[in-house]
Amino acid sequence: MPEKISIVVLDVATVTKIDVKALQLSELEDKAQEFAEPDYRARQMVDWLYGKRVQSFDEMSDLPREFRNRLGQEFAFSRIDTIRVLGSRDTTRKFLFRLADGNLIESVLIPASPALYGSRSDRRTICISTQVGCAYGCKFCASGLDGFSRNLQPNEIVDQIIAVERESGEKIDNIVFMGMGEPLANFDNLMRAIRIINAPWGLGIGARHITLSTSGLAPQIRQLADEPLQVRLAISLHGATDAVRDQIMPINRRYNLEKLLAACDYYAKRKKQRLSFEYILIANVNDSPDQARRLGRIARRLGAKINLIPYNTVQGLPWSRPSPEQQDRFLSILHSSEVPATLRREKGHDIEAACGQLRLQTKRELETATS
Ligand code: SF4
Repeated sequence: MPEKISIVVLDVATVTKIDVKALQLSELEDKAQEFAEPDYRARQMVDWLYGKRVQSFDEMSDLPREFRNRLGQEFAFSRIDTIRVLGSRDTTRKFLFRLADGNLIESVLIPASPALYGSRSDRRTICISTQVGCAYGCKFCASGLDGFSRNLQPNEIVDQIIAVERESGEKIDNIVFMGMGEPLANFDNLMRAIRIINAPWGLGIGARHITLSTSGLAPQIRQLADEPLQVRLAISLHGATDAVRDQIMPINRRYNLEKLLAACDYYAKRKKQRLSFEYILIANVNDSPDQARRLGRIARRLGAKINLIPYNTVQGLPWSRPSPEQQDRFLSILHSSEVPATLRREKGHDIEAACGQLRLQTKRELETATS
């Protein structure tokens, strides 16, 4: 039986103030100056926000009351509420959050796994969302099934990490932007959030422990390459020819493989960094030996590594995962092409299924309950 959840969708127009957790330290310093307060007030504020993690201006007890009041008049101080948690301490845990305007998003906390992104010492990875819904409609993904609602604000991105740490009691040290939404389609808010996540005065998580995953927005990949932050990039490839990728990723019709791979090449050279290719293995769609050989050639040319992920069945979507033997065959062709490749073969737990499902399921339950 699902637990009882109430939801109130507010008019977005009622949430108009910028949130204080969307601001950089320098902007807080500017604000302190404007209010004729010393610069160190900004340091005190970030300590309250990201060190002590208070949830209101009132709790910032070493700031003058008048300053707190003025901050409260000028800025919002929103929080995200946890409405569901699935999973246990030793497994993947999914968190469903309600935003200030009533929209739902989800984040996933993944236990240590050497096959995940970043280094072998990965621990406590969180997969976070960047949009409510998604407009990109990748055919294996539940996040896009209900369409796109809106971009997340920088504070709503940062708050997912704070809320998961609060709920789980664990310290997150690796972040993957692979939850709901296409991160690079929310570029400015994402960059703002990443600067807060990365800053020593913010959450202090190293850029090399932050991975962005994109369905293949070639112009934004180039834009990201020109940013100073050394975040990692993972490309959702899922097809080694346009004919196959077109079936899975509608974005391929806008930025085909040639354009996408040229942008990847630019990124890898500019950042001097190894890219990752995500490749969901789908039976009889993209799992042929020919696709494996072509994928191997692409990865070798770009110096990329490959993460193979067996397809997880999504309710309402076609397709199935290949047999374990077929998965192994695909992997061994990649190995014979001498490219680093891993096959993630956790059990397809319900809660590990494609991102966006928990939100979709809860939203539909709520709609049924209120109709
Ligand atoms: S995989 Fe990412 S980009 Fe594609 S539909 Fe899902 S959330 Fe959107």
